[in-house]
Amino acid sequence: YHGQPVNTNFCMSNPVARKMFAEYVANYAEGHSNADYLHVWLADMQNNHCECAECQKKTASDWYIQLMNEVDAQLTQKGLKTRIVFIAYLDTTWAPELEVIKNPDRFTLLLAPITRSYEMTLPEWGVKAVPTKYKRNENIMPRDLEEYFAHFLEWKKTWGGANLSYEYHFWIHQYHDLSGLEISRRISEDVKVYKQYGINGIIEDGSQRSFFPSGLAFYTYARTLYDTSLSFEEILEDYLSHIYGEDWRDFYNYLTRVSEAIPYSALSARSNTSEAKSYLSDSVAESLSKIPEIVAEGRKLIKSHYNSKYRVQTVSVRLLELHALYLELMCDALRERFLGNYEAAAEKLERARLEMGKRELEFDRYYDHMLLFGSFNRVFDERKTVEPMLVVQ
Ligand SMILES: [Zn+2]
Repeated sequence: YHGQPVNTNFCMSNPVARKMFAEYVANYAEGHSNADYLHVWLADMQNNHCECAECQKKTASDWYIQLMNEVDAQLTQKGLKTRIVFIAYLDTTWAPELEVIKNPDRFTLLLAPITRSYEMTLPEWGVKAVPTKYKRNENIMPRDLEEYFAHFLEWKKTWGGANLSYEYHFWIHQYHDLSGLEISRRISEDVKVYKQYGINGIIEDGSQRSFFPSGLAFYTYARTLYDTSLSFEEILEDYLSHIYGEDWRDFYNYLTRVSEAIPYSALSARSNTSEAKSYLSDSVAESLSKIPEIVAEGRKLIKSHYNSKYRVQTVSVRLLELHALYLELMCDALRERFLGNYEAAAEKLERARLEMGKRELEFDRYYDHMLLFGSFNRVFDERKTVEPMLVVQ
């Protein structure tokens, strides 16, 4: 599919092809006895399932479950205890209509809501959304966690085993929150709603160097997974008071002002949709023009706390100094972008990339230059608009 074998699904109604697949998995498990959990997913692109007469008789998830049962039989024959992780992702977001997992102890279900918005967690009312009907090669992906959970509840009608989530906070979405506060709050909320719905763990897709401007999001992720009774405010105070010292509230207020001036919704909500690249807003541009003044105040705070007797505080404040430069450069580019001045925006974005790139070696333990700037491809260049990779409502 689009020239990529890894993105291409096979004719899943063909018993010979399924047998080859199942044997390959079983042989792999046999040769890798160090792997307790083996993930067995389908192609990494949607809407490219076989359209032969046999395949059309069942949904992608039905063929997938049948395949998983055949994998299980092969593993049992070999006497292997390897746990198989199967995934509700892309076309298998839609629950099966006919087939069921025969040996639940063998399996863990992984829910991967790749096209969800990070603007909000599950709403207070829980799940009222009605899942859309599966339509072979014409599926439109859900847009928020509520719609994903609506599909997950369909899965749970015939699946009672263990569940995990595959999440994307630390992929591109963290970068569209330039203060780092919003995504941290979202992680705290999300871990709790996942647990409430019987999903007892999260694997994160993304960069392991996600500590810019601070490690608040990663810390919140770790603490909340261990103890969902902790409020986000408790974690925030614990973390910021350690990394910024007794004046932590001044730093928190500074980052809050940054967060308010750069609306997360303007950058994040559309990042998976085709309208993302054509979204313009004078009010967002005006809000972004407050950043130089906010950062000038922030720089005074940074200067007055530049050296500390604790290394963690010195490092954290110096990261904020690099972050201040980043805010000035990136918001300058974003402002042009929201006004529709694409050429000026592209020039300023390139300047930001080069200026931060020059400094990358100073702080690359905390900061992922490639992923950060890559994440803004979805926001910036109107002229390069192509067919969206995933179809979202
Ligand atoms: Zn087929």
